[in-house]
Amino acid sequence: MKNELLYEGKAKQVYLTDQFNQLILSYKDEATAFNGKKKAKMVGKGYFNNLISAKIFQYLAEFDVPSHFKKQLNDTEQLVERTTIIPLEVVVRNLATGSIVQRLGFKEKTVFHPPLVEFYYKDDGLDDPLVNDQHALLMTDITREELNLIKNSALRINHLLQPYFEKVSIQLVDFKLEFGRNQAGDIILADEISPDTCRFWDMATGESLDKDVFRQGSSNLLTVYQKILARLEAIK
Ligand code: ADP
Ligand code: UDP
Repeated sequence: MKNELLYEGKAKQVYLTDQFNQLILSYKDEATAFNGKKKAKMVGKGYFNNLISAKIFQYLAEFDVPSHFKKQLNDTEQLVERTTIIPLEVVVRNLATGSIVQRLGFKEKTVFHPPLVEFYYKDDGLDDPLVNDQHALLMTDITREELNLIKNSALRINHLLQPYFEKVSIQLVDFKLEFGRNQAGDIILADEISPDTCRFWDMATGESLDKDVFRQGSSNLLTVYQKILARLEAIK
């Protein structure tokens, strides 16, 4: 069923299958940060991100969020619907931290109410620059209506994920989503949602439970990712 490698990224490999419409995402045991400038092999990371992302997509499916996720195949792989990825990283922020503090001078932990939605143009060569709506419309093939759909969908996903994580004492600080266009022409949620792509803060201690521990070298990434998975597995 698994055919040739279509694409190899920093965190995943993408394989063709015998169905044109389906791809296999294979999560790698590699941690990267700062656009690949910091790198490390970490046996088990692929497993944690595969299982965590699968759980989150399954939860969103219960609320009929259209996504590429079909099923988890094994410890490190999942079957997804093939899309043409829209080259925008859609970031939702509930609290200010990270690049918005550095770039725009917001005070750390400023609450964004309503949550902020931002677009970054997905291009490693340009270092994924922040773009506005007009740039996004010029630089991609989406329409104004589709841009609004993406924004509303990102806000709805935030609204669904906040209480899901709060149940296990995790504050969803910010996260990144990707959307793709499927064969039918519809825009659906794609890629992954994991501690690589979200900031999670422990509600009791305030400690980071995400890739920031690797960015900052403050704690063991695998221990932290295992904690997230264990908490999500305890739900229901
Ligand atoms: P990067 O390309 O940023 O290094 P990854 O290592 O995570 O990221 O690579 C996975 C690639 O697969 C990303 O480019 C992502 O946009 C793409 N992708 C994710 N889901 C799908 C999908 N359903 N259809 C096509 N491409 C996808
Ligand atoms: N993010 C991501 N991929 C990127 C850039 C950001 O998944 O290429 C996520 C990041 O993990 C965080 C959110 O998007 O949850 C906002 O990131 P920010 O803009 O603060 O950038 P960073 O400080 O991570 O460089």
